[in-house]
Amino acid sequence: MDKTISIARVRQAARDAYDAAKNLSGGANANYIPYLANIDSDLFGLSVTLVDGTSISIGDTSYKFGIESVSKVPTAILAMIQHSPEGVLEKIGADATGLPFNSIFAILLENDHPSTPLVNAGAISACSMIEPKGDSDAKWKAITDNIAALCGSAPELIDELYKSESSTNFNNRAIAWLLKNYSRIYDDVDMSLDLYTRQCSLGITSDQLAVMAATIANGGLNPLTKTRVFDPEIAPKITTLIATVGFYQNTGDWLYTSGIPAKSGVGGGVLGVLPGVLGIAAFAPPLDGAGNSVKAQAAVKAFMQSLGLGIMNGDRVIIQN
Ligand code: GLU
Repeated sequence: MDKTISIARVRQAARDAYDAAKNLSGGANANYIPYLANIDSDLFGLSVTLVDGTSISIGDTSYKFGIESVSKVPTAILAMIQHSPEGVLEKIGADATGLPFNSIFAILLENDHPSTPLVNAGAISACSMIEPKGDSDAKWKAITDNIAALCGSAPELIDELYKSESSTNFNNRAIAWLLKNYSRIYDDVDMSLDLYTRQCSLGITSDQLAVMAATIANGGLNPLTKTRVFDPEIAPKITTLIATVGFYQNTGDWLYTSGIPAKSGVGGGVLGVLPGVLGIAAFAPPLDGAGNSVKAQAAVKAFMQSLGLGIMNGDRVIIQN
């Protein structure tokens, strides 16, 4: 069915969703990374970018927070650009683990497979796949240039967060070496782990993440800069990965109730992709038990519900003035 919605209505839905979520209490900042534990818990931003480039920003949308697990999305895209979606499927996989994002058990259960680039194991493996191999600086440049192209502006390393993560990432070190044991690390192990830790420590705004999401929704063409960042065939692949594992072990519940594939991070960010229509991002530090931002998920869900949108609805959505 065709569904036509005015831009004014989309703006109002975003405002209403923000207001509905803003006073929610509950949840707590991630506490296993010291830097994140100390971020102001009241920060809250909601950003929407339509595939025509129209942008909506409400609240703390210019605050640079730790991108954390949301960084797995752009690096998975880069791995697909460099090695094709089939190459990523073969070397990493595309299966939800149903277990926590940093599970070592999941690697063993999947028969030595890192499962998907959107959990820690697969993301470390994806960092190891990034070209040019063996050159940490050049790989880092490729990772950050790709994020800048997706967002239309560059991310910025939060040094304090990087130090905080590097000195506490013992579980990830175990994952990286276990993967090495199974020949699932395709470059130097310590370098791959360090690149992963550094990409998680990038500061990003919800405005930037909404543009990244809209670039995916727009088939790889950044709607603000009009630059083609990746081939259209990659868009459904990355959206599939997001839909199957983006909300940690609550991903099924999330997609069922919100209708939008979304990836969250323990920095409090959420990035949602509605293919062909829009990208949405929200940020608020307090997380629920699975590691998903309480306010960000409430806002994104309220936005989708008030507009009657959903990836499985089968509607052709047209947003116009
Ligand atoms: N850097 C964090 C970790 O590896 C990211 C976790 C997340 O956002 O899911 O534990």
